[in-house]
Formats: sequence, C-alpha cells, structure tokens
Amino acid sequence: MIAYSRELPLIGQFDVLVCGGGPAGIAAAVTAAENGAHVAMIEQNSYLGGMATGGCVNPMSEFSYKGERVIGGFAWRFAQELIKADGAILEEPRGNLSFNPEIYKFVAQRLVQQAGITLFTNTFVADCICDSDMLHQIIVANKNGLQAISGRYVIDTTGDADVAFHAGVPMLPNTRPAQPASLIFCLANVDTTTPRMHIIHQKNNNIHHSAGFIRELFEKLRGEGVDVPQFGGPWFCSTVDDGCVTVNMSRTAMDAVDAADYQRATAELRENVFRFVGLLKQHVPEFKNCVISSIAPMTGVRQSRRIQGKHVLTGTEYLEATHFTDAIARACHPVDIHLPSGDGQILHYPEIAAYIPFRSLQPEGVSNLLVAGRPISADEDAFAGVRVQATCMETGEAAGLAAALCVQKGNLPLASLDITEVVCKLREGGTILPLES
Ligand SMILES: Cc1cc2nc3c(=O)[nH]c(=O)nc-3n(C[C@H](O)[C@H](O)[C@H](O)COP(=O)(O)OP(=O)(O)OC[C@H]3O[C@@H](n4cnc5c(N)ncnc54)[C@H](O)[C@@H]3O)c2cc1C
Repeated sequence: MIAYSRELPLIGQFDVLVCGGGPAGIAAAVTAAENGAHVAMIEQNSYLGGMATGGCVNPMSEFSYKGERVIGGFAWRFAQELIKADGAILEEPRGNLSFNPEIYKFVAQRLVQQAGITLFTNTFVADCICDSDMLHQIIVANKNGLQAISGRYVIDTTGDADVAFHAGVPMLPNTRPAQPASLIFCLANVDTTTPRMHIIHQKNNNIHHSAGFIRELFEKLRGEGVDVPQFGGPWFCSTVDDGCVTVNMSRTAMDAVDAADYQRATAELRENVFRFVGLLKQHVPEFKNCVISSIAPMTGVRQSRRIQGKHVLTGTEYLEATHFTDAIARACHPVDIHLPSGDGQILHYPEIAAYIPFRSLQPEGVSNLLVAGRPISADEDAFAGVRVQATCMETGEAAGLAAALCVQKGNLPLASLDITEVVCKLREGGTILPLES
C-alpha cells in the first residue's frame, strides 16, 4: 500500500451528474435535462450506448409482452428516433428492436447534445468523495489527469455500480456463480437468402433468432472430437443491413469487476471468436465467404455488482408481477440465466410484465445517489429479467426525473420526494404503469 494525496481541479458543478453513458445513462441524462436540471454525463468511451454499441449487444429487448406493448416513455421514443434514422427495425410480436450500432451512437449523441447536457467522454470515474451520507464529488481520470466534478444528485449508470461501490454502498451477495461474459462479433458477406437463414434474417419480421441448426452442428462436431469452445445460443441478429449478422455465441465465466480477470477472459473470448468463425466458414455454406466486420470493443458483461437498495426485488415478485405503489418501470424479459459453465440457459417466463419499485434504485447509505440500469437492487433471478436494455432505459428515465424534480423543488432530499409525483409524471411521459396489476 502507498498513501497518495494531491489537490485536484474542480472542473464543473452540476445539479445532476450521470456516470455512464449506456442505455440507462442516456435515458437518465436526457430526462433530467429536459426537466430543467443542469446535467453532465461522464463516459469512459468516446461514444454513447454502453453494451448496446460498445458491446454490440443487439437487439434492444423488449417492448411488448404477449402482443401488447408494455414499455413506453423515453425507451419507446428512442426506438422511434432510431427507426426514423433508418437505424432500427422493430420485431413483432415481442417488440425486440434490431439496430445499427453506429446509427445508435449518432442518435444518442444528438439527443444528449440537443438536451444541453455537458458530456465528458474518454473520462473514467475512478473514485468519489463522500461525507456522512452525502456524495459530493466524483473523481475522474482522463488525458488531463485527475479532476473532480460535483453534482447535487448523482446517478450511477455505469452498469457495474462503480460509483456506489466507491461510495461504500453495500452490494448484494451472489449465491451462485455469476452469468458468463461474451464477446459479440459482427459478420459481413453472409448468405442470408437461403431458407434456413431466412428464419434468422427476415427484414421487418422475426429477425432475431436462436440458430438451432448451428447449435446441432457444433454439438455433432464436438461428438466427433472437434475442439469447439464453450458457447451459448448461438443467437444471430441481422441488424438492418443485408448480409450482415451480429453473432452472440462465445462465453466464459468472468469477474467483470476484477481488471486482471477481465483481461484474461477477454483474451480467451477473442481467441474463440476466430475459432467459431473458422468453424462457420468450414462447415456452414452460408458463412463460406463471411468476413469479420468488427468484434465488439467492449467485452459483453451480463452480470457484475448489484446494489443493496431500500427494496430488493425478488424473482418471485418479478414472475408474479407484484405491483408496488412506487412502481416506476416495467420488465417483460424472461428470467434469463446463462450458465457460466457449459452451454446451457435457464428461462422462466412471467405471467404478465413485471414492475420495478423506485426503492430498488435507492442505495442504502448515500442519500443523494440513485442507481439505474443493470445493477439495481434485485436478487439474482429478478436481475436476470431486469437487465435488458429497454428496461434499463426505463429505470434510467425514472432516476433522471426524480433527480430533476428534487432540483425543481429547491434541492429537496431524495428521501423527501413524493414518489407518486414521479409515477404520475412518468405516466404522462408515456411509461405504461397501470394503477394495479
Ligand atoms: C452477451 C450479452 C447479450 C445480451 N443480450 C441482450 C439482448 O438480446 N437484449 C437486451 O436488451 N439486452 C441484452 N443484454 C443486456 C444489456 O445489453 C445490458 O444489461 C444493458 O446494456 C445494461 O445497460 P446499462 O445502461 O445499465 O449498462 P451498460 O450498457 O453497461 O452501460 C454502462 C456505461 O457506463 C460506462 N462506464 C462503466 N464504468 C465506467 C466508469 N468507471 N467511468 C465511466 N464510464 C463508465 C460504460 O462505458 C458504458 O457506456 C445482453 C448483455 C450481454 C453481455
């Protein structure tokens, strides 16, 4: 251990500081700014979108359940913006949105700029300064060195609860090994016109599909002694461009918040991407001429930290769609557990779309911090449903709105905010929150 101390420049003071520019962060920042707050967003990459763009995770799941749309608000508006920009296709009946990640980055950047948000990209949240139960400054690192930024309200949308972790918020324990990581890759020059590929690649209809025939082939090859790396699915997503497919197939166990393990796993996954592509080219005629057009710059992290919040959403509450008076978001993805060893997946489907209470965004111990997106306070089963992008946007929107309402009320403590007002305003903005389930 060494001790390190120095004075840092304070480079900005904001009403709302959003840390992390993925789906939850974009929704939080734009909503807070459009409700009158002075907002900054900090993002380690040079672009927005998090797993959606940097991780090439496609499609954005999911807007509808049993044929009825259950996700509205900012997420739905964002989907419409993407479609308008020729960057996405909505797949019915589940309402998955397949998109072009470059157009996603562009649309997100434009929305953030139009909302007047100060953007700190290429800037990493490294630490924070707290006293008693208040978070005062975020310490960031970028080309200028170490700097401090202050926010009256901070929204942690880093996906890994980095801010909450540095602020000393307790994390929920994992009772079983975390879901594995994947390195998603994109292929061009795939022949998507044959009947079996047409199931995967149907423009405007069911374009996201688990490719059963390739799973069967890989299992057969394994049986014949071919060295096939650990895989999931595989899931192919056609995005919006002819002959291009996004492939979600590689997987390995990884501790996403341990830098050394992240490096080890990413190197292994990259090796495996090339092995999978070799096998596809050799054994599947439709992939004979394919080329890797990109490998996701960010390793796909399914699971890392989850905060201990004022309410821990349970798998039972999720599957039974327990209604909460402070319900601020919906989720209709199945409890979707990818196994960290082997090629398996466990799925449990809710009866109707689940509800997420505002208390699951409120961490224990830090009064001016909210956490949205993947690491909200949920047990491992509920987590396996709430982690998808459209729902992350809904929790982000609720966090951004709550912080902005506190600013409007003269910097009210979050604990004093009447959540029924947040719920009403979310409804007015299109979030689909029935009065009871
Ligand atoms: C392999 C895989 C397949 C998936 N499949 C689907 C699917 O089919 N459909 C679906 O909807 N979802 C899917 N998901 C889940 C979904 O993509 C994520 O759970 C979701 O993107 C989480 O959103 P978020 O905003 O909470 O976090 P993220 O998308 O992770 O965004 C976090 C942002 O914070 C930034 N950040 C992190 N730490 C710091 C820091 N310290 N300082 C500054 N910036 C930081 C990151 O760069 C990133 O931009 C999948 C995930 C994986 C890994």
